[in-house]
Amino acid sequence: MDIPKDNFPEWYNEVIERAKLVDKRYPVKGMHVWLPYGWKLMRNIDEYFRKIFTEHNHEEVYFPLLVPETDFKKEGEHIRGLENEVYWVTHGGATPLDVKLVLRPTSETAMYPLFSLWIRTHADLPLRIFQIVNVFRYETKQTRTFIRVREVHFFESHTAHATAEESEEQIRENIEIWKKVAKKLALPYVLVKKADWDKFPGAHYSIGAETIMPSGRTLQIATIHQYLQNFAKAYDIKYLKEDGTHDYVHQTTFGMSERLVGAIVGIHGDNRGLVIPPEIAPIQIVIVPIIMKEKERILEEAKKIEDELKPYYRVYLDDRDNYTPGYKFYEWELKGVPLRLEIGPRDLENNQVVLVRRDTFEKINIGREEYMEKIGELLKEIQENLLRRAEKEMREKIKKFENLEEVKEHKGIAVVNWCGSEECGHKIEELTDKKIIGIPQEKRKGICAICGKETDIVAYVAKPY
Ligand code: ZN
Repeated sequence: MDIPKDNFPEWYNEVIERAKLVDKRYPVKGMHVWLPYGWKLMRNIDEYFRKIFTEHNHEEVYFPLLVPETDFKKEGEHIRGLENEVYWVTHGGATPLDVKLVLRPTSETAMYPLFSLWIRTHADLPLRIFQIVNVFRYETKQTRTFIRVREVHFFESHTAHATAEESEEQIRENIEIWKKVAKKLALPYVLVKKADWDKFPGAHYSIGAETIMPSGRTLQIATIHQYLQNFAKAYDIKYLKEDGTHDYVHQTTFGMSERLVGAIVGIHGDNRGLVIPPEIAPIQIVIVPIIMKEKERILEEAKKIEDELKPYYRVYLDDRDNYTPGYKFYEWELKGVPLRLEIGPRDLENNQVVLVRRDTFEKINIGREEYMEKIGELLKEIQENLLRRAEKEMREKIKKFENLEEVKEHKGIAVVNWCGSEECGHKIEELTDKKIIGIPQEKRKGICAICGKETDIVAYVAKPY
């Protein structure tokens, strides 16, 4: 890499381009082309979403991209929060449409008119579905690959329940699912409840999973929302109770997006390029034959190793003729492949291979009898090491402050006592030129940084992407 990671914004752009995750030259601002390597990474994450949500009793659906204006505008708060961000379809050919259509910015307004048809009695509940689709937001701020884009690769789950308690139970389950996703991606995070003025439009409350990027800015990488009956009332989603009366359902949602890729790039990468957690890496092991002499025998052996590994791992044999091993090392390090396996004449002689870790660059000579087992161990260790390392770095960026002047300069999350009032909240944001990204579960006795009232509430104050 030409740019060191210390210069994070430029490093981030360079690594995405050079590792060929996306092509940013597409002629619509905020929309990029997923290239094969980037798309494989995204698809591996999607596959995990499918697996984990299926295990948690969700079913996959696919709703249309276009939503009629009449349905889009049913929930007042929701529409007020989103109407400046949506793209409109107004014509079919040269004919103006009777009812304008919205490109989904998220799918509540597409799904819930159908929920009101699907859900009749308590026997239809709970309803749990998800979809993996593209959504569109007309972002006016500066766009940034994976982090702030106008066409977003998006995961959303939607659930409907008979009672408020059951929807609360779903929120707890969603948090458990999130923990598994974060572990799979080796991403550290903090969970916060969003301030009331910052919750998802139409939600009763919102929970965000926030991580800290190397720039010190926070990135929201998952959101879980409790709607209670807000949307059910707007979309008339009622069910017949066992006692013969009707009630509105209680709903929750869970959203994640390609931001997760942005977090993986930013958090794990280093001066040599990407470092991708083994669990979701497009290629887990790259085999590089070191050919100086005995070309045939080495290639044959490398092919044999590839065949041995293939049933268990995502493996790639780089047998390209016109590149030196050094060039190949450089390229696969840039692409963040967790393990490199080298085999050369000396290894052939000693009946061994050489393994090189991407996270620590440790080199390990290992006999052909044991190498399979060793690879399993190493991939597990790399996965754990990446999470441990990232977790430590993130924790170091979370600091307590009394003085708001100092908060201004802090790169990371500042923990500040706050009485909880909206007025003081906005003052904190104004004085620090940052945002209250949310309220963590942790309590700390102190006084509100603005009004001096005693409080045990703390706010997480940071500069979010
Ligand atoms: Zn206060």
